[in-house]
Amino acid sequence: MAKPIPPQTALDFLGALSKEDAIAAGKKRYRSGEPCKFGHAGERWVSDDACVECHLLHRKERYQRDPTGFATNSRKWRKSEKGKAYSLAYNREWAAANPKNIIVNRERAKERHKRRMQEDPVYAEKYRAANLVKNTRAKERRDLKRAGELPPERCEICGKRAEEICFDHCHQTGKFRGWLCHTCNRLLGLAGDSPEVLRRLAEYLERHATS
Ligand SMILES: [Zn+2]
Ligand SMILES: [Zn+2]
Repeated sequence: MAKPIPPQTALDFLGALSKEDAIAAGKKRYRSGEPCKFGHAGERWVSDDACVECHLLHRKERYQRDPTGFATNSRKWRKSEKGKAYSLAYNREWAAANPKNIIVNRERAKERHKRRMQEDPVYAEKYRAANLVKNTRAKERRDLKRAGELPPERCEICGKRAEEICFDHCHQTGKFRGWLCHTCNRLLGLAGDSPEVLRRLAEYLERHATS
């Protein structure tokens, strides 16, 4: 099981910000010069002027009392609609404020992934299994390109000349099946790629056409 992550103990990404400015900027926290009764002269919540540092200390206490329970609750919150909306907004704000870090972090993650793919067989196998369909698709596409195979002008099913013939693949394995127009490709998908469903649909149409 993953080790629970301890909560943050200090937050100071707002800089100097009066309550009025914080409200105008749609922020939830502002900075107050006034210390709280425990002497924290840091941030306050816009909603109730409570001390953010005290709030974080309480979080830390809750964590120390029961790290696993804390992690479970945090996960529940993150997966809730409110939690998801909150993280999205927070991440967007952070990304806008730190464009350079985004690029650096992305590069770091890429490096870490590359290294783990080479050094950690369990990780590599898990990654390959999770991306089997995507990888097979990509490989098939590369192979077709290498073989110089070009998409035909007409759809293999309806024979219509389509602006764009698409690359149809099996949704389970990602293997290339054929060249279809967009409509036929979608029809197969809507029927769940089931010959049985498609046969019944055809029978249904025939039955009602003759009666
Ligand atoms: Zn305080
Ligand atoms: Zn077609």
